[in-house]
Formats: sequence, structure tokens, C-alpha cells
Amino acid sequence: MLERFYSMLGADIGIDLGTANTLVYLRDHGIIINEPSVVALNQKTNRVVAVGSDAKQMLGRTPGHVVAIRPLVDGVISDFEVTEEMLAHFIGKAVKLSKKNGRPRVVIGVPSGITNVETRAVRDAAVNAGAREVYIVEEPMAAAIGIRLPVQDPVGSMVIDIGGGTTDIAVISLGGIVNSKNLKVAGDRFNNDIISYIRDEFKILIGERTAENVKIAIGSATKPKEPMEAAIRGRDLLTGLPREVIVTDADIREALAPSIQVLLDSTKEVLETTPPEILSDIMNRGIVIVGGGALIYGLADLLAQTLKFPVAVADDPLTAVARGTGIVVENLEQYREVLIEHDNELPPR
Ligand code: ADP
Ligand code: MG
Repeated sequence: MLERFYSMLGADIGIDLGTANTLVYLRDHGIIINEPSVVALNQKTNRVVAVGSDAKQMLGRTPGHVVAIRPLVDGVISDFEVTEEMLAHFIGKAVKLSKKNGRPRVVIGVPSGITNVETRAVRDAAVNAGAREVYIVEEPMAAAIGIRLPVQDPVGSMVIDIGGGTTDIAVISLGGIVNSKNLKVAGDRFNNDIISYIRDEFKILIGERTAENVKIAIGSATKPKEPMEAAIRGRDLLTGLPREVIVTDADIREALAPSIQVLLDSTKEVLETTPPEILSDIMNRGIVIVGGGALIYGLADLLAQTLKFPVAVADDPLTAVARGTGIVVENLEQYREVLIEHDNELPPR
């Protein structure tokens, strides 16, 4: 009897709608989906052929009329319909797993600095995808909650979220974002930096996947204790034939240096415009970096040396936002103030 009553309520779902990866948290289950934000589209029929990991598998292996799209590539919804289909796909999976019949309640993390129009687009996409109630939280806030920073206390915290398309730098206090900056220098830019560097220095053209693999394998912001190298294969620009070269950690560090400098300068700018009391809290408590880019070797150290602030990489930085959206959806009343916009009435539970 009671069981039937509960099954009528919808599932509680938290979603990190990232530019590179979408993660879904389901109450009582934890993170159940962690897949690339990629959709494969048949251009002849305009139908979605695959979503997530299945779609990424198809990248570069499809017949001409099937294209793989990253609908959120710059942290904004570049393709509304495709985003909606992707959300519908992931929400559908979560609902099925929850075994609940009602329409779900969804908390979605979006990049900070998203416009009202884009926020509405995300909300509408989730409603069209079947959500009964949709709550939006800015990703750096969700990340801070996910890593258990005291976001609602009268104390300043600072989070840098380095994702695929965008980096969010945010200062948080009393349940709100006090100061922030959103920039398009993040993982994708690092990959492009590597492609350009290898083209200019080695006269070889490499693909995005290769660049990303090299970045993850030997990318660094400071000199590692042991030298590292990787063999990469690309197309020789002179002969047009495949050629393999060995690149070192120093090569990749040089390739990434200008973009990393932009991250340093932007963080400095945010600090410079942060009120002194909060600055002193951040000085005491340190800056935390999250997102896939936080895993670049030496980045936290370089930030700490340059800014003269303590800097740490969060545990499991790629899931921080998703964990945060999960905490919010499970404690909606408590976290009401951190939501960007809430025209839904919270029903009694
Ligand atoms: P988003 O939130 O925008 O979806 P994520 O936080 O999921 O982005 O991070 C994805 C980015 O992190 C990608 O650009 C990926 O290449 C990068 N990344 C993942 N792991 C590593 C690593 N170990 N070192 C450097 N970059 C990484
Ligand atoms: Mg993210």
C-alpha cells in the first residue's frame, strides 16, 4: 500500500548538464549516468540516432549523413532541440531505473553567466522531457555544495570549475554567488592549443581525440618530477602521409601555457574585485578547483604559487556538480535560496 503511494511520486533527479559530460544523480541510487554530452543526428531524417556514449562511439565512423553534435559546446545551448532530446533520453533512463510512475522533480546545473533566455530554454527542455518541477542551480554553486563547502554560512568560499567548453570562477557566501567570471578557456581550448602547437612545431596534423588523449596522459602546468613523453600519430603536412612523433611534457606545457595564463589572470581579476572580508576567508580556507581540467598536473600548485593563496583539487572533481545537484534535490527546502529561479511551488512532501 505505502509502496504504491511512493511509486506515484516522481523520482528526484539531479543533472549536471556539462559541455563535455552529462551526469545524472538519482535519489537512493547515486550517480547513475556519466556520459559525453553528444548526440548523433541523421541529417536526412532529422532524427536522433544515438545519445551519449553510443553517439561518441560513432564520431568519425558515421556515413556522411549522420553527424555527431555537442549541443552545449560553449556552455550555452547552441542547439535547443538536440539538447531537449538529450535531456529527455537521460531523464527517461533515470525514471525507468527509479521504478516511480509520477513525473520527476529535477535539479539542473547550468554554467554561471547563462542568460535568462538560456535558463528558460533549459527549463523548457526539461519540462518537455517530462519533468514535473524543474529547479536551476549555477554549476559552481552546485560544485561547492557537492564538495561540502559551507555555502550558506556567512563565510567566503571560492571554486574554479574547469570543464570542457567553459571555466567558471566563483566566489560564494550566504547562499549566493558574490562574484564570478565565466570564460571559454577550458578543456576544449587546451585540446586546440595542442593541435596548433603540434602543427606548428612538428608539421603534423592531429585530431581532437588524439590531442585530448595526450593532454590527459602528459599534460601539465608545472614541471613533473619525472619527465614524461607520448607517441602521437597524425598526418604529415608535407607528404600527406601518416607520421609518428614523440612529444614531451615540456612540449605540452608550452602548448598550454598561454591558456593557463588566461586562467591565472582571470582568477586574479575575480580576487581583485572581491570584498576584503571575503578575501580573507578565502585566504584562510583556500580555493578549490573542480571539473576535468582540475586534473591537469601541477595546475593547483601553479595557481597557489602565482596567487599566493592555498589551492586544492577537489576529490573526484568530475562528479562534484552532479553530487551537488543531488544534495539540492534531496534537500530542496534547505537549498531554496541557491536556486537561480524558482517559479515552481514546492509541494509538501
Ligand atoms: P563539463 O562540465 O564542461 O562537461 P568536465 O568537468 O566533465 O566538463 O570536464 C571535461 C574536460 O576535462 C574535457 O575537456 C577533458 O578533456 C578534461 N579532462 C578530463 N580528465 C582530464 C585529465 N586527467 N587531465 C586533463 N584534462 C582532463
Ligand atoms: Mg561541468
